[in-house]
Amino acid sequence: MFYVSFFLDESKNKTKMGSRRIMVTALVTGGSGFLGSNLCKRLINDGDRIICVDNNSTGKLENVKELLKKKNFKFLEHDIIKPLKVEEKIDKIYNFACPASPPAYQGKNAIFTTKTCVIGAINMLELAKDHGATILQASTSEVYGDPLVHPQSEDYRGNVNPVGIRSCYDEGKRCAESLFFDYHREEGIGIKVVRIFNTYGPNMAPDDGRVISNFICQALTQGDITVYGDGTQTRSFCYVDDMVEIIVRVMNGPRDFTGPVNVGNPMEFTINELAAKILDKILTSSKIVYRRLPSDDPVRRKPDTSLANKKFGWSPEMTLDDGLAVTIDYFKGVIFG
Ligand code: UDP
Repeated sequence: MFYVSFFLDESKNKTKMGSRRIMVTALVTGGSGFLGSNLCKRLINDGDRIICVDNNSTGKLENVKELLKKKNFKFLEHDIIKPLKVEEKIDKIYNFACPASPPAYQGKNAIFTTKTCVIGAINMLELAKDHGATILQASTSEVYGDPLVHPQSEDYRGNVNPVGIRSCYDEGKRCAESLFFDYHREEGIGIKVVRIFNTYGPNMAPDDGRVISNFICQALTQGDITVYGDGTQTRSFCYVDDMVEIIVRVMNGPRDFTGPVNVGNPMEFTINELAAKILDKILTSSKIVYRRLPSDDPVRRKPDTSLANKKFGWSPEMTLDDGLAVTIDYFKGVIFG
């Protein structure tokens, strides 16, 4: 059992206007990862106090380097497969800890991935129970597997291979959803489940292995652009700021709204189209090469986002072209300094 305390000094905060507001303390697991670090930055800007928890297996302290200077931000190196006790009151938990790219969650990490999804969820749900906190689960479009229904709406139950190389992540995240709803029904815990579709933007790791980071880094370093399969498979890519916006809206939405709710950008592109866009934006000698398609790689993916739109008035704003331009600039900084 890991036992920590932070922020025991004050429970209230003066806003810029001088009026007092009750400060929200949020714990973000996976907080130094790609999505988690972007979320922490947003929450700090909103005036929340953040306990950022990460084992730094795929996350990087570098992602929260600026936040570490803020007095309302604390970093705790901890693996959520071990239970966690925190002394002061936590109001909200965002459960984002899990390796998220196929090369990071599969292979020799597969058992660890399942443990993170399942045991990690139990530990964070127990923490939420101890504190009477609302807890939001970063679920995934992978709960739909290789979908037979297109676009995917929340009532679709999915097509997951339970013994395939993706199942540690897909089934792990499905089990986590199941745990969230059972803790809600049996223990009365306030839960929110968001199903996150492909997301990209600053703070992705160059060696992450996902398609956008791979293609951009390959083009910037004059390497081959590795399209898996024939490149006709599709994905729908959401810029990270749009994603963080809907996550925060869901967390702060009506208590009786549990989800699951799809969050993602419904504009669908083939992987060939994505490669062409990136090659268009970067002056490079890189050429497209075709490589073996990994097994169980979903053929088509596109979220039906009507629930998020109806409940929260949300739809993503960043176009893929504009989001790629920002992301290319970010990777130029990472690679060339
Ligand atoms: N992909 C690709 N080349 C790469 C990395 C990925 O063609 O260098 C393909 C991958 O096979 C999949 C799509 O791009 O069809 C999205 O892959 P990613 O790993 O980004 O996410 P996920 O498969 O989890 O949607």
